[in-house]
Amino acid sequence: MLDSQEKNEFIQIIGKDRYLDRPEELACYAYDAFLIESAPDAVIFPQTTREVSEILKTASKFKIPVTGRGAGTSVCGAPIPINHGIVLCFSKMDEIIDVNTRDRYIIVQPGVVNADVQKALAPFGFFYPPDPGSMNTSTIGGNIAMNAGGPRCLKYGVTMDYVLGMEVVLASGEIVKFGSKNVKDVTGYKLSSLFCGSEGTLGIITRAILKVVPMPETVKTLMTTFNDLDNTAKAVTDIIGSGIIPVAMELMDKLTLNAIEDVANLGLDRNAAGSLIIEIDGNKEACNKEIKKIIETLKKNGAIHIQEAASDTEREKLWTARRSAYGVFAKLAPDIISEDVTVPVSKVPQMIRKIIEITDKYSLKVGILAHAGDGNMHPMIPADRKNKKEWQKVEKAFSEIFQAAVELDGTLSGEHGIGLAKSAYLPLVMNKDSIKLMKKIKQAIDPDLILNPGKFV
Ligand SMILES: Cc1cc2nc3c(=O)[nH]c(=O)nc-3n(C[C@H](O)[C@H](O)[C@H](O)COP(=O)(O)OP(=O)(O)OC[C@H]3O[C@@H](n4cnc5c(N)ncnc54)[C@H](O)[C@@H]3O)c2cc1C
Repeated sequence: MLDSQEKNEFIQIIGKDRYLDRPEELACYAYDAFLIESAPDAVIFPQTTREVSEILKTASKFKIPVTGRGAGTSVCGAPIPINHGIVLCFSKMDEIIDVNTRDRYIIVQPGVVNADVQKALAPFGFFYPPDPGSMNTSTIGGNIAMNAGGPRCLKYGVTMDYVLGMEVVLASGEIVKFGSKNVKDVTGYKLSSLFCGSEGTLGIITRAILKVVPMPETVKTLMTTFNDLDNTAKAVTDIIGSGIIPVAMELMDKLTLNAIEDVANLGLDRNAAGSLIIEIDGNKEACNKEIKKIIETLKKNGAIHIQEAASDTEREKLWTARRSAYGVFAKLAPDIISEDVTVPVSKVPQMIRKIIEITDKYSLKVGILAHAGDGNMHPMIPADRKNKKEWQKVEKAFSEIFQAAVELDGTLSGEHGIGLAKSAYLPLVMNKDSIKLMKKIKQAIDPDLILNPGKFV
């Protein structure tokens, strides 16, 4: 609970209308798409950078924890105010400030939704490549803070590759700016990269300059199915090994296909053991050549059905199916735990076998969904956390899945981040001195540790 002096000082900055502290209001900011809930003492909706700065000065003065919040779609507990304090919600800082396709950038406030960036660019024939499955809801501030990826990051890279510059408010209230509007800029430390993936623990992002790219001449999308999940995974490594980097290569297993079909009725093959959505882009001639080579590789790996989307509507239907995968799993059990381990692409078949072996051992159901072309796997276990016995098995299974990924030269997270979900596992992939270095950086920038405390640092 904030005392009356603390509350009054915040209200003086933003007014009563943009300050919430009734329990029923706070409950709406206590969760994300992970499993833990913890309500803040107050929620504040800033409208300007100056307000954010004043709020942080006040929070520093009283040592009140501050947690930034975009759309709350994180799946690792990153925006949960585990130590309470205030949540800064950016839904009122959602302005697209400048679209400049000639110089290839767009400037936005942190609360702009990813899909709105795409909509603003489309009339100019440009797009912003990072496309998390949550793109219709998640915000640019959240995407930067989590260094979000998405299907087409296989070819185009992740959020960090598109942040040219940023304005950030530090815990002290100082407003810092780094980077520029230039696609080439090697002036000083690349501080924008430090803030990408920092999960709101180093500063509050109030503005971003993002690089945008022209839309390709041609896009081709294939859906293919297999009788065998191992062959599905092998096809992925063979396509990448043949020198083709598709825009996206998404793998779904039988459980996932059926969960989608139950809800969306899209005509997906319920009997297939595995399927891939493969998308390529570029000029027409190059695309035709690549598609031919991809189809040959798919056939060599025993694909039973290969279908190219004949229109934009058909293509959109496939992507809607893929994007709905996480949501439709919610029908299978009270809780869904979706993980994010990543391995080098040549080890995707081994990792999938390992996930099946481990979940079988604990008699757990698993759905395998993967941005397979970059080895980023989302095993999803439907379970009930009120069932203690089952829950223990889920925890053991995930711990073994993390261990298996690391043994295959993989890592804990390809895009979902660490948050509350995986901080205990950091020593699996970072040695003591690396963790110490992260702590030193945190201490230097946020000495009172008020920014998103309780998270991975
Ligand atoms: C259905 C579904 C599909 C998903 N698919 C993907 C995917 O394909 N790829 C992927 O990478 N992720 C995916 N995610 C996870 C999630 O959508 C991303 O992590 C996303 O970037 C979070 O954005 P958000 O606006 O919801 O941020 P929030 O969840 O609100 O916050 C995330 C983190 O950002 C911090 N933050 C928010 N705004 C600011 C700010 N202005 N300044 C500083 N810190 C800030 C918060 O404190 C928190 O630590 C998916 C989630 C769901 C539910």
